[in-house]
Amino acid sequence: MSDISSLCNVKHILLILSGKGGVGKSSVTTQTALSLVSKGFKVGVLDIDLTGPSLPRMFGLEGRQVHQSSAGWVPVYTDSTKQLCVMSLGFLLQDRGDAVVWRGPKKTAMVRQFIKDVVWGDLDYLLIDTPPGTSDEHISIAEELKLARPDGAILVTTPQGVATADVRKELNFCHKVGFKVLGVVENMSGFVCPHCDECTNIFSTGGGEGLAAQFNVPFLGRVPIDPSFVLLIEQQQSSEKNLVENYQSSKLAKIFGDMIQQLLD
Ligand code: ADP
Repeated sequence: MSDISSLCNVKHILLILSGKGGVGKSSVTTQTALSLVSKGFKVGVLDIDLTGPSLPRMFGLEGRQVHQSSAGWVPVYTDSTKQLCVMSLGFLLQDRGDAVVWRGPKKTAMVRQFIKDVVWGDLDYLLIDTPPGTSDEHISIAEELKLARPDGAILVTTPQGVATADVRKELNFCHKVGFKVLGVVENMSGFVCPHCDECTNIFSTGGGEGLAAQFNVPFLGRVPIDPSFVLLIEQQQSSEKNLVENYQSSKLAKIFGDMIQQLLD
């Protein structure tokens, strides 16, 4: 178990989990962080998806570096207001395309270092983006966070049955390690036509809500497929405004803001 003194001024710790890859877990992590910052909170994001760290890109921070101070690794801040910082293995790799092929013990050591050696400072929320499924990183983080008592986990799924079936495993995992399930988010839930506002359910619908009801956990809501979120990320590197300002003017900000409010109430 780690020394968790680096987390002593962190008020809340939330984990973001998904049963499989590509369902939008990192996007949900990013939007949760941006929504919390928009509500005035100070937020840190830790990316423990060691084989596919995508958060530097999602936050428009690719190419930035983590600095080593006498107190430990200083996470990368998105701007000078210092409301939002990110720590990811992606900042430590020489090249974005570098493959991380590590055995379990090395992954465990890295997760431990992320908990012990990062100067998180005062944070209202620390969000932890995990790899899909239940892997070495999940087992390590559950072990490392025992003393820090995380608030719980947000589970992300798409509406189809095949994705929700995988989320059941995450629910069981949470149960086993004692993480409270804060709620289920159904991502990519329909496409809202930008011209007529009609919603087309490209995949089936309601899988996330059904699963939440079945396991008696809160359903936080549906997030539609919105190309503007992808554009926001793509254009951020060249934008003069900061990411939070750009996000606040996007459609998803309202949907996410309401969803996050449920967690705060
Ligand atoms: P995961 O972390 O589960 O692997 P990502 O968050 O990386 O998934 O999302 C996979 C891809 O889908 C990314 O390109 C992301 O921008 C896109 N995406 C995720 N959610 C949405 C959404 N609601 N609307 C549009 N694109 C989305």
